[in-house]
Amino acid sequence: MGKARIRLGLVGVGKIARDQHIPAIGGNQRFDLVATASKHDGVDGLPHHPDLRSLLDAGHELDAIVLCTPPAVRSELAHQALDAGLHVFLEKPPAAALSQVERLRHEAARAGLSLFTSWHSRESLAVDAAKAWLAQRQIGAVRIAWRENVREWHPGQDWLLAAGGFGVFDPAINALSILTAIMPGVLALEAADLHVPANRAMPMRAAMTLSHDGAPIVHCDLDILHEGHQQWDIEVESVDGLLTLGAGGHVLTIAGDALPLAPNREYPRLYERFATLIDSGRSEVDARPLTLVADAMMLGTVHPIAPFEF
Ligand code: NAP
Repeated sequence: MGKARIRLGLVGVGKIARDQHIPAIGGNQRFDLVATASKHDGVDGLPHHPDLRSLLDAGHELDAIVLCTPPAVRSELAHQALDAGLHVFLEKPPAAALSQVERLRHEAARAGLSLFTSWHSRESLAVDAAKAWLAQRQIGAVRIAWRENVREWHPGQDWLLAAGGFGVFDPAINALSILTAIMPGVLALEAADLHVPANRAMPMRAAMTLSHDGAPIVHCDLDILHEGHQQWDIEVESVDGLLTLGAGGHVLTIAGDALPLAPNREYPRLYERFATLIDSGRSEVDARPLTLVADAMMLGTVHPIAPFEF
């Protein structure tokens, strides 16, 4: 007999839900997307509710909830889902604050439910291969350039520049999620500069220096006001040559040779893992990328810049 299907409710029917979650759920035999909750839009053919509370009260006999809302509301919604006895899949970043993740971890463990802090950028095959290659090597300088135009990729998303919206760290936390996955040693924040528009709460440009096993070798240039060539690249120097993870972690070049890789299955892999976690009664909670962002916010020097409008 096959494993039981997992009845899933999705909260936050926005860009990432439509682009990735709904197709990935549809392609996974273990999940049935039963209903949605979002402030405005739903999904054609599925029951829709204006918020998670009414979704939970509607008697859909759910097993799990996936939260695709902006991060500021994620922890509160995750508690509602856990209180209702449901497993929880969190989009990245898992919450707006580290202490919120810790509380969720504690609550899920107490209730015997699976909590999954997903980091989609880690799921590319290039990241797996980079991690394996770096595991045995002496590492030199590391450069991260994560530079994109917020008007192109997040048009009108005012939440991203409000408190709890992460600003430049909304995309750049993907780079930090890859970095924390591929580097064999311990990463720690050494210094940061944060450039915050006068009319917004979050930085839109940032520079960070991190140490790796105590050596301050990692330099990050992060920007969402960048109008030129859009760039999501990580370079790692080693005695055996330069490793480059390009295009957001999708393209891997080692010592000038591009490695052939099968097409990426980031979100299908995330749902396969969520099913495995539920089946085995485990959680996967990794807040390391969020820790580095929180440290940058604590230790960074804030520089005011011109007001920003979309
Ligand atoms: P988005 O397009 O603004 O979608 C967020 C959705 O959540 C909207 O439909 C919004 O409804 C809804 N929502 C907000 N508060 C809610 C609440 N309290 N209850 C129910 N629904 C609520 O944002 P997005 O780009 O999809 O990003 C969402 C998350 O996914 C972010 O954490 C982001 O970092 C992550 N992510 C995004 C991408 C990407 O390419 N965009 C890629 C990977 C991960 P209304 O719009 O009707 O207010």
